[in-house]
Amino acid sequence: MNDQSIKTILSLSPQGQTVRVCGWVRTKRESKTFSFLEINDGSCLRNIQVVVDEKTPDYKNVLNRLTTGASVEVTGVLAASQGGGQASEIQAAAIVIHGPADPQTYPLQKKHHSFEFLREIAHLRPRTNTLGAMARIRNALSMAVHQFFQERGFIYLHTPVIAGSDCEGAGEMFQVTTLPLENIPRQHGQVDYSQDFFKKKTGLTVSGQLEGEIYACALGRIYTFGPTFRAEHSDTSRHLAEFWMVEPEMAFCDIHQNMDMAEAFVKYICKYVLDHCQEDMFFFNRWVDTHLLDTLENVVQAEFVRITYSEAVQQLEKSGAAFEYPVSWGKDLQSEHEKHLTEHIFRKPVMVTDYPKQIKAFYMKMNQDGKTVRALDLHVPRLGEIIGGSERENDYDLLQARILELGLNPADYWWYLDLRRYGSVPHSGFGLGFERAVQFVTGLQNIRDVIPFPRTYGSAEF
Ligand code: ATP
Ligand code: MN
Repeated sequence: MNDQSIKTILSLSPQGQTVRVCGWVRTKRESKTFSFLEINDGSCLRNIQVVVDEKTPDYKNVLNRLTTGASVEVTGVLAASQGGGQASEIQAAAIVIHGPADPQTYPLQKKHHSFEFLREIAHLRPRTNTLGAMARIRNALSMAVHQFFQERGFIYLHTPVIAGSDCEGAGEMFQVTTLPLENIPRQHGQVDYSQDFFKKKTGLTVSGQLEGEIYACALGRIYTFGPTFRAEHSDTSRHLAEFWMVEPEMAFCDIHQNMDMAEAFVKYICKYVLDHCQEDMFFFNRWVDTHLLDTLENVVQAEFVRITYSEAVQQLEKSGAAFEYPVSWGKDLQSEHEKHLTEHIFRKPVMVTDYPKQIKAFYMKMNQDGKTVRALDLHVPRLGEIIGGSERENDYDLLQARILELGLNPADYWWYLDLRRYGSVPHSGFGLGFERAVQFVTGLQNIRDVIPFPRTYGSAEF
């Protein structure tokens, strides 16, 4: 059992009290009569220094086995440190080695390892500074998400992981089935889903939004925060096949109130990590992105830019920048366009609204012009899209017409249409990709490094 974390012990003033730490050896420096160990237990970025000398029982033997990666339990006196670099250190009285780590084979010997290499050892990489700091930031950011919504009276809603309807993103859905794949039952050439577990075709959820709308249209304000799955073949640094999404949904709320909420939310979570995770944030600012703290402080202070898609297209055309994919009204914005808006034209977060209907989902509210919908995407510097949302179509006839126009079957959406039949209200919401938020606040470039065990196209080892 761990009595006190290293984080707690480092905050004590050293007065010769006896303490006990449990952790893993990061480094060992040996001299003739004594040695220094650096121990880390994951409670914070810093290590605690332990002085081991000949007074330690079985000194020589213990010292040989105290190699990088070994797990130890050290009991000793907390004293002011003689050397620079740390205020206190532990003078070991007793050391128990729970598990040695063979220096011939333990992979984390060097000080710096490439992210690619660390991904191959996802079972050991949390013992590095970067992944440890990431895990603590991810934890803090989760708390920030809950705190933001709880403070505003939102109800935390658990939406299903197995989706019964195929309302959105059918192409990106992972199928869930108990049918024997080597001998699929068929009838008239078609797969016979009546023999499947749910007696229908099901998949892993791509979004909790539609179910979220049901509860928002009863409880007022809800949010979901859970795993989301998309069979994305796109091998980018911003897409995972399994990621966590935060999706608030608000009744009696239009696109403008939705934008206010999205802006307040992003500012809140950025401020939260700046305030609560200083040590780890300084680490990322030093080693990962030297503009990180400036960027985040700017986000907390700045008023986000709000422009329509049509204005964004004009601005991009006017900029004269050479893009790989030319901009033109009607085409979706590519990440190079999103980055150009946030990094060169405005130099802060940009909310783009009113996208052409053909590039957005069927449920978004139609504008008067009949051509654009009340979509809202939030783009941030260095990353591009972090939030996608909209005001939802709340008019029964318009929604049904849109479903038919897209060649969908209204019968598949009977319950969704019912929300527009009984007590329909203007309502809105958005989805924040949680890993994109962790990328944004840590500066880490690749989304595979901000989730403990990334699932991407062709990769699910751990
Ligand atoms: P993109 O254009 O970047 O693929 P999207 O338009 O498909 O995003 P939405 O369906 O609006 O995204 O989902 C809401 C948010 O979820 C996005 O803004 C993004 O932050 C996040 N997100 C979407 N797909 C992924 C993914 N495959 N991996 C990680 N996060 C994702
Ligand atoms: Mn996508």
